[in-house]
Amino acid sequence: MASGQLSRAEALASPGCRHACHVMLFSDTKIQLFGRIPIRHIILMQMRFDGLLGFPGGFVNPLKETLETGLSRELSEELGVALQISVEDHVDSCHAPASSPSSSSSSRFITHFYVKKIEEEQIREVERAAATTATDHGHEVLGMVRVPLYTTKGGGGLSSFLSHSFIGNARSQLVNTLLRFNLVAPEELHKALTHSMKIHTHTGEDLRAVTTLIKPKTKLF
Ligand code: AMP
Ligand code: MN
Repeated sequence: MASGQLSRAEALASPGCRHACHVMLFSDTKIQLFGRIPIRHIILMQMRFDGLLGFPGGFVNPLKETLETGLSRELSEELGVALQISVEDHVDSCHAPASSPSSSSSSRFITHFYVKKIEEEQIREVERAAATTATDHGHEVLGMVRVPLYTTKGGGGLSSFLSHSFIGNARSQLVNTLLRFNLVAPEELHKALTHSMKIHTHTGEDLRAVTTLIKPKTKLF
């Protein structure tokens, strides 16, 4: 087990901790982008209310329900469908990273991560429900997004996606899962991450340029 990681049992035995559970839902697919770039897998993430990318899920109280029942309840609210998540879908548990806003609160906080493979048709059903019947749509969840796993000629795709901002350790949960479940080859992932860092630098420059555009020309006071 990697450092900082806990088994599900150790995590549950940690006194005074809050628990949050999130899941990566994915399927295989034969779809091709532009009829020639294989998409290979559909992976669902979401644009959260705070403008960050993350996985569906949320806080669970293990004194009142199992982690998995709590996660399924969160999924009903965020996705509009009742998906059963089981202990077998559990991948890892770890203390929330210090940079997460919640870690500044006095109570310690553990995140549990699950991965569940479902059929492509179920993924489509989740996307439909998430945008229509889900109670959190337009509130806690601004929309579901698919993760592009390919790299386009211009170097976009996975690298651009990874250069966005993510909640907590969601980016490392995504990268670890891509490797662990063999969804992207390690060399390809390494290339995409290297390119992401360049994109990130460019984004910084871009933001600085945009900021100068809106600098107030006259003093207001
Ligand atoms: P949520 O209700 O989905 O916002 O999740 C509960 C808490 O977990 C929030 O305080 C988030 O900061 C945190 N969180 C959400 N997604 C993740 C994630 N993928 N990894 C770590 N923490 C997360
Ligand atoms: Mn949530």
